[in-house]
Amino acid sequence: MTTVLKHSNPGLAHGDTARLLGQAWGRSVSFGQSPDALEWGDSGWLDSPSIEEPQAEDHAAWILWRTNFWEQILPKDEHLRPMGLSAKRSLALPEAELRARELGRLLGIEMPALLRPDPIVVVDIDHLFAYRGRGWISAAGGFLRDLFMGVWIAVKERLMGPDPFFSMTYWVGMQKRHPNLGFQFFALLSSRRGQYDRGVGAKYKSVKEALRQLQMRFEVASHLSYGSHDHPGGFREELANLEQILDRPVLRQRFHFLRNAGQREAAKRLSDLGLTEDWSLEFADVPGFRAGWASAVPFDDGFSLVPVAAMDQNFLGKSPREIADNLHELQAAAWSVGAPLRVGTHWRIFGPRPAAERNAKNFGNWLLGLELWLAECAPNELL
Ligand SMILES: [Zn+2]
Repeated sequence: MTTVLKHSNPGLAHGDTARLLGQAWGRSVSFGQSPDALEWGDSGWLDSPSIEEPQAEDHAAWILWRTNFWEQILPKDEHLRPMGLSAKRSLALPEAELRARELGRLLGIEMPALLRPDPIVVVDIDHLFAYRGRGWISAAGGFLRDLFMGVWIAVKERLMGPDPFFSMTYWVGMQKRHPNLGFQFFALLSSRRGQYDRGVGAKYKSVKEALRQLQMRFEVASHLSYGSHDHPGGFREELANLEQILDRPVLRQRFHFLRNAGQREAAKRLSDLGLTEDWSLEFADVPGFRAGWASAVPFDDGFSLVPVAAMDQNFLGKSPREIADNLHELQAAAWSVGAPLRVGTHWRIFGPRPAAERNAKNFGNWLLGLELWLAECAPNELL
């Protein structure tokens, strides 16, 4: 049964709002003029939506504004990403989603019970290997460089392993320690490299075998490269390469560098390619709920933007205790709307020797903080 909110002439913004409310209320919602249509405090904002904040009493308008419009006022960084750091509002709560539930309560709508789902660790594989998967010229060149520079540990790893970034063992261990934890891996296989794309090539046997091995235990999807945005068919090419390796359709992706994350045009392109989820809804610079949602944000029928509320680089300089506390707070906020907390990180950080990367940042505290948090949430899994 569809819940109808009263409006004589609903437009596109009403359709977008109905989709958001439908997600929060767990039912189908539309605007229209049926006899049982509900009054909802229409201020007229949805008839001509803009970056201007709607009045507080028009909850439906405010929800759409917070979800789709608010971030447009933020200054952008060098990758044209809006900077959450300059936000004048708190990002610590999924406020658009909370407001959607509030409106549901005001209208007497029976909503789904609030669950406390287990967290999901989101892993970007920017560099599957430090040394392998780039062809023999690159391997030989790297070997000679390390030999002449006297980097003996790298020479030894190149000859005998283990590859310093290949972190499969770590994830298998984490999965054993936390059997209810969710995992989602995103693999970068840039077919034509942009300025910020490194990592392995899709055609190498070692790469194919490693990703197939990963897929045996975990969900693997595509991490579309920075360069893929810049040429026609770029997304399609990389998705096809991964599909060929995994031998199944790829339905999820997360943009490398979060480039064009949350942009309507990019989302439309992904949806048109048959994807069902984009996991890029996140600020690169700060933790929090970018669109005001902890649950997936429906974009069009069959395609959603999935929020990731925090990632490793947001916590540089913090102690493990501070990191764990921050993750507990974000998890409580996600649970306030019955959503799981999704936490992003990078594959190489969990490999045997992440410092093999040039100018590597130290993510030691992040590892400890993440583990501390997971250990402390474990008792909740029994509730
Ligand atoms: Zn990346």
